Amino acid sequence: MTQSDLEDPQLRAQLERLRAQHLYRRREIVESAQGVQIVIGDRTFLSFCSNDYLGLANHPEVVNAFQSAAAHYGVGAGASHLISGHSRPHHALEEELADFVGTPRALLFSTGYMANLGIVAALMDRHGVVFEDKLNHASLIDAARFCQASVKRYPHADLDRLQSLLVTADRSKLVLTDGVFSMDGDIAPLPRLMDLARARGARLLVDDAHGMGVIGTHGGGSFEYWGQPVRPPAILMGTLGKALGTFGAFVAAEEEVIETLIQRSRTYVYTTAIPPAVAEATRTSLHLVRSEPWRRQNLRERIDQFRRGARELGLRMLESTTPIQPVLLGDSDTALAAALALRQRDILVPAIRPPTVPRHSARLRVTLSAMHTAAQVDRLLDALAQLGNPSL
Ligand SMILES: *Cc1c(COP(=O)(O)O)cnc(C)c1O
Repeated sequence: MTQSDLEDPQLRAQLERLRAQHLYRRREIVESAQGVQIVIGDRTFLSFCSNDYLGLANHPEVVNAFQSAAAHYGVGAGASHLISGHSRPHHALEEELADFVGTPRALLFSTGYMANLGIVAALMDRHGVVFEDKLNHASLIDAARFCQASVKRYPHADLDRLQSLLVTADRSKLVLTDGVFSMDGDIAPLPRLMDLARARGARLLVDDAHGMGVIGTHGGGSFEYWGQPVRPPAILMGTLGKALGTFGAFVAAEEEVIETLIQRSRTYVYTTAIPPAVAEATRTSLHLVRSEPWRRQNLRERIDQFRRGARELGLRMLESTTPIQPVLLGDSDTALAAALALRQRDILVPAIRPPTVPRHSARLRVTLSAMHTAAQVDRLLDALAQLGNPSL
């Protein structure tokens, strides 16, 4: 067999096209724990890329909880929740999460991506209609495909448009939205979404991956931010891999929804439970989320500092009050060049390009952490100020 027999010319051509379009992605190999400083190769970078918003991914108490639980429960869950993988730490975490967000029940999923797929497919079939904000996360978009319902997309946060779409549909209806939009950082108008869903007999699934732990006085997320209890028709999906610093996801809702997911959700039934030690670590991080409001206070100060500074520099910002602070640059080349220039100064900020964001809205996506110091945010602002400077 010659070398060329092993090559797939079609895949090769596709990859070449991605490269030519500057859309080719590669991974960095990180040598350190998560934190505002991370080590790649032999260099230490100041990172503005992580979703570890509260600095819990490598918190000593969380690590310690993980280690002691691993000593008792081992590393793997060994089975799915319905067979023999549902351990005491999983169950306790579910009860604590339900208490945290104020719902009768919560149910752990292995990832947020799988939770979205599993919720939508358990509640909808191909006779239903799913409504999606155009800026929804990929996992919500894929969830609608997975259940084969028909899909109607509405322009970002355009609830008048959503209302008119909801009027025309007489089948079972489910509205999907991010709580905090992952690429723009703005917060979905939940009170109006709830009213609309209620008035039109639709259910509402809110994916609060970026709100959980971060916004709301006690870190309860988008619902707490709006002073809105999580009640039918709402279903909340929260992830554990972002502000909570660990791994996995949960769904919070009333009894009937949770039991339906346990019976019918394929991405719940047919997969291994997260390791019990991860559940135990998450119980500790949830405790820190609830008991240490100073983390959210720090984060708020850094967000305000960054926005003030960026405005003074005349950067194109979006209306975001969350740790996700995009700096719009337009085309992919400009965004890539900016990310590269920052990198040369040992600062990591990802360039986000189409198809992840709409065309001509390529951007630097700055994410802030409670662990960033004022000096570190100043360092980022200084570097951004130099971007337009050809001598860089
Ligand atoms: C990260 C993310 C997910 C996926 O969660 P994982 O637990 O990482 O699979 C889902 N929705 C949104 C909005 C996210 O940002």
